[in-house]
Formats: sequence, structure tokens, C-alpha cells
Amino acid sequence: MSREPYLGKPSSLRSVRGSSGAPTERSTGTMTDYELIRSKRRSLELRVLEDGRVQVRAPQRASLRMVQAFVDSRSQWIHSQQQRQASRPRQRWQDGASFPFRGQPLTMDVSAGRSAVAVSGGYLQIRVADPDSEAAVQQTLEGWLRKQARSLFEDSITRQFSWFASQGYSRPALRVKKMRTRWGSLSAKGYINLNMALLQYPPAALDYVVMHELCHLQHMDHGPGFHALMDARMPDWRQHKQLLDQPFFQP
Ligand SMILES: [Zn+2]
Repeated sequence: MSREPYLGKPSSLRSVRGSSGAPTERSTGTMTDYELIRSKRRSLELRVLEDGRVQVRAPQRASLRMVQAFVDSRSQWIHSQQQRQASRPRQRWQDGASFPFRGQPLTMDVSAGRSAVAVSGGYLQIRVADPDSEAAVQQTLEGWLRKQARSLFEDSITRQFSWFASQGYSRPALRVKKMRTRWGSLSAKGYINLNMALLQYPPAALDYVVMHELCHLQHMDHGPGFHALMDARMPDWRQHKQLLDQPFFQP
């Protein structure tokens, strides 16, 4: 990876690609196709999307040269992210597809009807107006999952919050989110943010994340005090945490 200052490539300020579609290597760095989105932000941000496309978000006045240098300097990271995305199994939203729910792989049973979702045996029964549309199946299922997440996550908080209540803490308000890099967080403003993907893992994994975030009510960092509190409140938290290493699909 080159971290040299950008020295100028007069005719190549635009991105280029090799005919194979793979990023073209140049001695001065990797030239990568990217989409530039300008906004009122103050810093540059790089994203590799699920389909491998690269997006750069940049301040209005950032020069193309600066953006290109930024992309070039992170070409190895971009490449590794693209490989990761490509090797990740894509979730299908159609009859017969598998979907992990609370640690159990369920099989989608999709049929035509008024929108409804139910779990029965090992099946996720999904009724949708257009059963051939993966987008429609996804939308129906995700709407249902969001409701499940709200109620199951609240349950987990209720079960585990009582001790914290007895210590005088106020109960954080739940926000269910789709997050790419974290399972949960606790905000200073009194919110507990939990990743919707936790719904795909066994209940003990959810309980672990909730307990972890609740322990942040008392300890903001991950120091010895935090771990002592985790050990006291959930002695087997390490086993529960390991459940999150399972390679379930994460939306
Ligand atoms: Zn933490």
C-alpha cells in the first residue's frame, strides 16, 4: 500500500478498470473504479458495498486529486473488502431458501396470499402477494423480523435489567438497528442500540450482548471493573459470546 503523497497522473484522474473488470494495477498504485458522492461532510469516507462497488463520500470542495490519492492509499483494504464480500453467501428470499432464526436454520415456505409470516416446525411460512418477487418476500419477512426483534430484545432487557434497576439506573430505551460492524451499543443519551441480526443467533447470544451493553451503564470502558461486573452478572458470558462467532448470514 502506497502512502506516498500523490505525485500526479495527468491523464488518469478518473478511475479506470482493466478489460477483465478487475482493478488495474499500476506501479504508482491501484486504480479503482469508484462512485463519488459529495456532501456537506468534512472528511473522506470509503465504502465497499455488498456487490463490491466502491463509494467515496467527500466534502464539496475536495479535489479529485485528493480523492484519488485517498482511494489509492487504501487500495489493499478495498481489495480485501471486495474479496470478503464476494465470498460471503448472499441471502436468498424465495421458497426453499434457508434463514437462521434464533439459532435455528428455518426453511422459507413462500406462498401467495395476504402478507403474513409464521414459524411452524422448521419452516418460516411467508404469505406474500407476489411470491416470485424476492424483494417482496424480503420486505414482508423483514417487517416481521423487526417486530420480533422489538419484542424479543425488550424481553431480554427486562430479564436482565432488574439488578441494574435496583442500583438506581434508568432503563435505556431500545433501538433496533441494522448495523454493519457492531452488535450493540449504549449511548450516553439513554439508548441501547441492538443489531437486528442478533435475531439470527441463539437467544443466549442476544442475552450476552444485552448484558454487555447494560454493564456499560456502570462502566463505560472495557476495563477490569467492566469484566468483573460481567463475571458477576453473567458468569458464563464467554461461552455466550462465542455463539456470535458462528458464520450465520448477517444482513
Ligand atoms: Zn462494550
